[in-house]
Amino acid sequence: MPNTRAEPREASPGRTHRWRSILRWFDTADAQGYEPDGDRVDWLRATPFIGMHLACLAVPWVGVSVVAILVAVALYAVRMFALTAFYHRYFSHRTFGASRAVQFLGALVGASCVQRGPLWWAAHHRNHHRHADTDQDPHSPRIRGFVHSHVGWFLSPRGFHTDWARIPDLARYPELRLLDRFDLLVPVGLAAAVYGLGALLERVVPQWGTNGPQMLVWGFFVSTVVLFHATVTINSLAHRYGSRRFDTRDDSRNNAWLALLTFGEGWHNNHHFFPGSARQGFRWWEIDLTWYGLRALAAIGVVHGLKPVPAWVAERARR
Ligand SMILES: [Zn+2]
Ligand SMILES: [Zn+2]
Repeated sequence: MPNTRAEPREASPGRTHRWRSILRWFDTADAQGYEPDGDRVDWLRATPFIGMHLACLAVPWVGVSVVAILVAVALYAVRMFALTAFYHRYFSHRTFGASRAVQFLGALVGASCVQRGPLWWAAHHRNHHRHADTDQDPHSPRIRGFVHSHVGWFLSPRGFHTDWARIPDLARYPELRLLDRFDLLVPVGLAAAVYGLGALLERVVPQWGTNGPQMLVWGFFVSTVVLFHATVTINSLAHRYGSRRFDTRDDSRNNAWLALLTFGEGWHNNHHFFPGSARQGFRWWEIDLTWYGLRALAAIGVVHGLKPVPAWVAERARR
């Protein structure tokens, strides 16, 4: 006799999975039921990310203005600095000190980049250094190919998973855990603010030719999508193209173009050889905008204790 109840019972795990994927757009806390090692893209959970890309296609409808471009560039610059200085050099590598308020501010601006919370980011990145270009590396072009190292990893169940064992020093801050859990909140807040700015400028200075929708598309969507792809070139391109000054165990490269685009992160072979320094350009001509920014912040007392490039590393970089 056919079991009429078997059908719905079998269908329910799929439905539960789909429902959870949608739920985690808003709240990432319930990570149970996800396979941490699944490497295929979770398309449903990736929908907001894909939507962000599609929103950029609205450019022909909203038009363009000088002020919208300036806001997009400014938001790229401020947020790239937050990613490299705070998400990467502070949270992931602890290469300088900051008060709890400054730490939170860095995390807040970092969270507006739509690259998830600081704990998630640091946990993945610490695993990247630990296992660089082995099969346990979250995003190695050597292991799972170029597209996966650039974007596929970011949208897979394994990519969504946070490895809490890697970040006990950060997980003790409730305010950081909050940013991590509700990682959509800050981006939505920024998008609303950018829209509001456009609407305000339309009323106050209509001759500037902008409005809410135009500012939203350029200032938030285009800026954020370019920011994302620039950031992840360090996982993909900077493990393929460039020079290798240090014979590290991984495939990391130094690439001046990527260093300009990412405010210093392109000196990636330097960084893999010695990740403990707040500076990634080891020679004076290796432009590292984040390092200059951190020096300026240290000079006015916002951050402190920038870890320099040790003399023995600087000496080897000169050879
Ligand atoms: Zn790397
Ligand atoms: Zn790193």
